[in-house]
Amino acid sequence: MIRNVTVFCASSKKTTNKYLKVTREMADILIDNEIGVIYGGGAIGLMGCLADRFIHRGGTIRGVIPEFMVKVEWAHPFVNDMIIVRDMHERKKLLIENTDAVIALPGGTGTLEELMEVLSLKRLGKFFKPIILVNTDGFYNPLLELFTKMVSENFLRPEHLNAFRVIHNPSELIEAINGSTDWDENAIHSASV
Ligand code: AMP
Repeated sequence: MIRNVTVFCASSKKTTNKYLKVTREMADILIDNEIGVIYGGGAIGLMGCLADRFIHRGGTIRGVIPEFMVKVEWAHPFVNDMIIVRDMHERKKLLIENTDAVIALPGGTGTLEELMEVLSLKRLGKFFKPIILVNTDGFYNPLLELFTKMVSENFLRPEHLNAFRVIHNPSELIEAINGSTDWDENAIHSASV
């Protein structure tokens, strides 16, 4: 059963409508399936859009934000369940604790950093849950190409590509989570190439 998922996404205020739309659709799919969200606690960009939808529809949402971001008023003022942590490291740790899946919507370096950390942990057998990339308008295609190159150049094993699933539309989310490749701590034995 999927109870909670972690969502990584952009903080940019300048994202175009296609990304806001997919974020709202993702929020609706999660709320309709009574799935709670853990996210970075921001009030703007796709993070703000996701949180606003959850608050508007009465969904369950938890923010995890470092103290220094609270000081510059980046925390969403209406997310009641807001955990304030010391730093970015603690935030990333808490964001994926007790989650049933990780979803990466489009974003910038912050989103990519969070996604790469969780993928690396999975490769090392330290994180087992499904990881879903939402490839809106081919946003993640260059990254997927890089992963293919990593495999062909022997920086990654082909089976490491099973650590994540790519969807194009939030309507594919539940099936992608349920259909994700099983994973456990034995991944460490095939972590290196
Ligand atoms: P990005 O994908 O680069 O927009 O990064 C999203 C991540 O950026 C979040 O998880 C935060 O670490 C950080 N971040 C950057 N700007 C903000 C902001 N205005 N409010 C909250 N978090 C932010």
